Amino acid sequence: MADPTTPARRCHCVIAHPTTDAERAEIVDAITEARRINDSRGLLINLARLTGARTCPANARRP
Ligand SMILES: [Zn+2]
Repeated sequence: MADPTTPARRCHCVIAHPTTDAERAEIVDAITEARRINDSRGLLINLARLTGARTCPANARRP
């Protein structure tokens, strides 16, 4: 059973896109950290999460 305090995931893409400004900020922080520790895999995954969000159904109405 899902935790009622956890909001439902709005993006169902394979690589989850952020759907709020707070989620975007978390990803930008993760990119900054990946660069700092030279984590190329983390950098790639988090860049993929940020890009392509315009084609995501959960972000269709965002400007
Ligand atoms: Zn998505």
